[in-house]
Amino acid sequence: MYRSTRTPEDRVPFADALFRGLAPDGGLYVPEHHPDLSGLMASLPEGSAFADTAAALSRGLFGDELGEETAERIARRAFSFSPALRPVTEGIAVLELFHGPSCAFKDFGAGFLAAAMEELLAGEERRAVVLTATSGDTGAAVARAFHGREHIDVVILYPSGRVSPLQEKQLTALGGNVTALEVSGSFDDCQRMVKEAFTNGDLTARVPLTSANSINLGRLIPQGFYYVWAWLQDRSRVPEPVFCVPSGNFGNLTAGLYAGAWGLPVRRYLAATNANDVVPSYLNTGHYETRASIHTLSNAMDVGAPSNYERMADLYHDKVGEFRDHITGFAVTDAETRETIARIRREHDYLMCPHTAVGWKAAERWREDHPEDDVILLSTAHPAKFLEIVEETTGRAVPLPAPLAEMAGREKQAVPVGTDPRELADFLVREFG
Ligand SMILES: *Cc1c(COP(=O)(O)O)cnc(C)c1O
Repeated sequence: MYRSTRTPEDRVPFADALFRGLAPDGGLYVPEHHPDLSGLMASLPEGSAFADTAAALSRGLFGDELGEETAERIARRAFSFSPALRPVTEGIAVLELFHGPSCAFKDFGAGFLAAAMEELLAGEERRAVVLTATSGDTGAAVARAFHGREHIDVVILYPSGRVSPLQEKQLTALGGNVTALEVSGSFDDCQRMVKEAFTNGDLTARVPLTSANSINLGRLIPQGFYYVWAWLQDRSRVPEPVFCVPSGNFGNLTAGLYAGAWGLPVRRYLAATNANDVVPSYLNTGHYETRASIHTLSNAMDVGAPSNYERMADLYHDKVGEFRDHITGFAVTDAETRETIARIRREHDYLMCPHTAVGWKAAERWREDHPEDDVILLSTAHPAKFLEIVEETTGRAVPLPAPLAEMAGREKQAVPVGTDPRELADFLVREFG
């Protein structure tokens, strides 16, 4: 069972946490208990395939509630792609999470959520309409993950002229069950319209709306799978790795903490941020203070009030001492980010996106004091997604990976809408009511 961070008595099954997203009290859903999967993990062979690892963990985590077969089927249908573990230097191996359809790690969470919703809806013979606003990348992962899934329609709002041409193609060129609404306004307008839709009782009574945003537990938990998989690849040499996680909203890191709670042996977690260093400051000072976000090169991590802090504080009973027992924080500047991208390309012929470079710098700092530690660095996006910065910093052309190149060549299909929430409501009722 799962419960809200704010009202522990509000216990719900996995399916409810999934379709609700946010708890009614405004809190986040968390697992009531973390099962001990250490025996299961130990029984998986070294070098296991990702699909097999995910299937076994899904059975262990969700089998009681959904049935083992269903739990396994969801994992197998979620992941048609796999991470890759690339040893780049003596002590740092990069866990590349960008080999999925949108070339970023969010493909893993979105893929599992989409497969789980499809499976649960099929059992109940109902439909759902996933409604989401995006400033670019999150929407791309959601669109790709839900495209072609049965029982589900997807409506994505994005601000006209404010996403990159390639991002726009990823949102608009899929067709089928994915509809893109091009809003003549800002990202904030898009978010406001979506929020109003969810609180419009008349609309929600007529259209079965659900959200797929990054706070959804159905996106968070499966991100723990690749921590286990990475450990499985080389566990006889590195039985207890350090994981370094470039972080913004801290969903990726929280998933790693959950994997630790299942029994994965982890020596330490490194929380790497850009100048938006709310969590590293908290670890230093013991005072948690959110701020307005600052624009940086690693813009997917420009978060001044990380939503998953609430889940971490729940796990660690609001005690900074418990945080410090597991996590060390590092804040990295834009100048260091550029320097790292250029140097690692020069010295190791390895290209990184700016988010991954923030993590690389943090891993190096850790290893200055712990040279014997083996660090697994989570790489959150393909360098080609941040073409300009990477090419300008390294002087190298970055070829587009196949999934992005394919989308770049397709036709944009978007429905233009204004910023009036009533226009959105009318559209939803007309199409899906
Ligand atoms: C979303 C994102 C992050 C931040 O992940 P969180 O789970 O929010 O900490 C880092 N890098 C990239 C490329 C992302 O898209």
